[in-house]
Amino acid sequence: MNPLGIHALVWAGDVSPESVKKIISSSKEAGFDLIEFSLHEPKPLDFGYTRELLKEFNIKPAFSRGLAFNADVSSDDPAVVARGVALLTEAINITQQLGGDYFGGVPYSALGKYNHPITAQGRKHVVETLRRISGEAADKGVKIGLEVVNRYESNVINTARQALELIDEVGTGNLCVHLDTYHMNIEEVDFVRPVLECGDKLGYVHIGESHRGYLGSGTVDFTAFFHALAQIGYTGPITFESFSSTVVAEGLSNDLAVWRNLWNNGMDLATHAHAFISAQAKGAGLGITDRPY
Ligand code: MN
Repeated sequence: MNPLGIHALVWAGDVSPESVKKIISSSKEAGFDLIEFSLHEPKPLDFGYTRELLKEFNIKPAFSRGLAFNADVSSDDPAVVARGVALLTEAINITQQLGGDYFGGVPYSALGKYNHPITAQGRKHVVETLRRISGEAADKGVKIGLEVVNRYESNVINTARQALELIDEVGTGNLCVHLDTYHMNIEEVDFVRPVLECGDKLGYVHIGESHRGYLGSGTVDFTAFFHALAQIGYTGPITFESFSSTVVAEGLSNDLAVWRNLWNNGMDLATHAHAFISAQAKGAGLGITDRPY
């Protein structure tokens, strides 16, 4: 069965000890196996305390972040690229220290709206950076995921095919594609073909509604998506991602354009999401090998 995950921002926008306790205990209570922590602004997270709680609640961590315009590995400026590389190195180290084996998100770009296409030099910097950090991450037992995001959040890759081309160009084995139904709904032709094209290069999945609120209340065709996951025999994590102005993380919420209230009660949202994802997975036959059809 695929590990089911939930983004920490459903519970809290900071990583104070009280918030970390809430994030970990609430995720477990809602039935999840994995928590995705954002390292968008890595505030002093208490490593020992967090590791202990993760162990106590028997829940796995995954980590994600995007870069910033002044620390961007897709920039033409080597000094800006170097600041981006430093953020990535830090994120990989945190992932390892907290016992995680996955760091994903947007390690190839700033998270935001560019006002120009990527340059040839910028693209070269992305490839060189990913080659370097994926090697370093491999030595630490950390896999790097390239989340395919929409055109308003990056100008480097916006479709699964572009992610696969980038991975080919980098040419290391430690990169995978990370698909998110919220972004797919904006950029892809449908919810099936990108999944089939990725095949075993798909390493991580975000389940998000078209407005990032309650699953089933928007326009994403989850049935098609889960059937495609079943068709490729996807065994990786499936992580629920949802954002509301109820829970705000300084910086990240603004970069993700979280302007509206989509929900008030994180526990109600999360238990519904767990039931929804489980039902979709079971209906599609994900991980089930004895279906007669
Ligand atoms: Mn996502």
